[in-house]
Amino acid sequence: MSTASMPSGLEFRQSVDHMVDRAVEVMDLDIDIANAIKACTSVLQVTFPVKIKGKIEMFTGWRAVHSIHRLPSKGGIRYATSVDQYEVEALAALMSYKCAIVDVPFGGSKGGLYIDPKQYTRDELQMITRRFTRELAKKGFLSPSTNVPAPDVGTGQREMAWIADTYKHLYPTDLNHVACVTGKPVEHGGIRGRTEATGRGVQYTLQEFFRHKEEVKDASMDGSLEGKNIIVQGLGNVGYYAAKFLSEEDGAKITAVIEWDGAIINPDGIHIEELRYHINDNGGVKGFAGGTYEEDGTKVLEMECDILIPAALESVIHEENAPNIKAKLIAEAANGPVTFEADRILRSRNIKVLPDALMNAGGVVVSYFEWIRNLTHIRFGRLERRFDESKGHCIVHALKEMTGRDVPDYIQDNLARGADEFDLVRSGLDDSMRLALQAIIDTHNRNEKIEDYRTAAYVIAMSKISRSYLDIGIY
Ligand code: GLU
Repeated sequence: MSTASMPSGLEFRQSVDHMVDRAVEVMDLDIDIANAIKACTSVLQVTFPVKIKGKIEMFTGWRAVHSIHRLPSKGGIRYATSVDQYEVEALAALMSYKCAIVDVPFGGSKGGLYIDPKQYTRDELQMITRRFTRELAKKGFLSPSTNVPAPDVGTGQREMAWIADTYKHLYPTDLNHVACVTGKPVEHGGIRGRTEATGRGVQYTLQEFFRHKEEVKDASMDGSLEGKNIIVQGLGNVGYYAAKFLSEEDGAKITAVIEWDGAIINPDGIHIEELRYHINDNGGVKGFAGGTYEEDGTKVLEMECDILIPAALESVIHEENAPNIKAKLIAEAANGPVTFEADRILRSRNIKVLPDALMNAGGVVVSYFEWIRNLTHIRFGRLERRFDESKGHCIVHALKEMTGRDVPDYIQDNLARGADEFDLVRSGLDDSMRLALQAIIDTHNRNEKIEDYRTAAYVIAMSKISRSYLDIGIY
């Protein structure tokens, strides 16, 4: 099939497979094991009716399970009109690799519903979500121990709360029912820090990247994130938080934001909060006073910048525009934003790419924490926080006694403060992202056949997953 006539999802799935093949080529891995890992374990397609405004409408959804070497299999549910079986399979595969890279003990899965959520009211979406949930649960594609969804494009806390509630009513005797889905509101068993986790993960990984001077130099940059020009494509949940944190906390300048209706450009840096308000009120970026409007967003992808963060859907950097990209580093906050062919072109032009399977793994890392919190039925930090605080007070007291001097307030405050759940989530996320990038850089530098970070990431993922196949055997 020529790529022109392919369903877009199929092209995406093949692109992921080809990228993994590049890793397999440089590894000492049995090709049959590699093929067994790459294959999608199972896919469910459901079509169901829902009565909307007195009329019966049919909806089609999918849930793909890519791997079950660890359980549950994990991954979001997407509501979009780009969804098809192949897209869901590609995204499920990425979940397997992502979890392995950040050491989250889950298999990979992904779901999608073919729907434009903007066309439906809140109540209608609730009915549709609850019906989809029942289909998934009845067919064995939803449970705390086997398959745990999360938010993705077009879904959020609200949908996750409906899923959790529907599951609870189906299986009220399941003590762990609340762990059947992650990304829930905090009042319904969610965890603090999950909403912004993917964007936060993008920030932590970029911070870590800039601690590696040689890598920064290889990407034709120097110094820290401070003052770096960044273009963000897509100001949804991931793009918004990444842009906000990088500009407000690291001193980076967001010089352009690309959205569905065009782009805003401001060489002095865009005020992300204000732009977000504008988008919420007006539905798009057009008319925003804090920058120049450019109708053709695709042109803006090709503008000069230090870092380009594609944070929306797949395949935005392809064969045609890859030769024109001027960023020095691409941080893939979205899943699959660079096609296989574009990846080759970018490599030949020495444009570095921090791959999706690493960059956007922050979401599933914090989902893992949420799932553990749900299984333990206790908030992180609940037992030790006050104890740690009183120990901190003791240390401050001891310092004063021993030195006969006052301990500065900021040191006292830091010492005498027990970590709450939010602190622990952020610390765990930071640690996961740092370790994962360090391993990727190390793998990349240790083997000259590994030309790029993506291949290094997949070498790590494939060797971790294959180990579990080899240890246990295939039966
Ligand atoms: N949808 C997110 C992703 O693509 C989150 C998955 C999860 O938390 O399970 O990584």
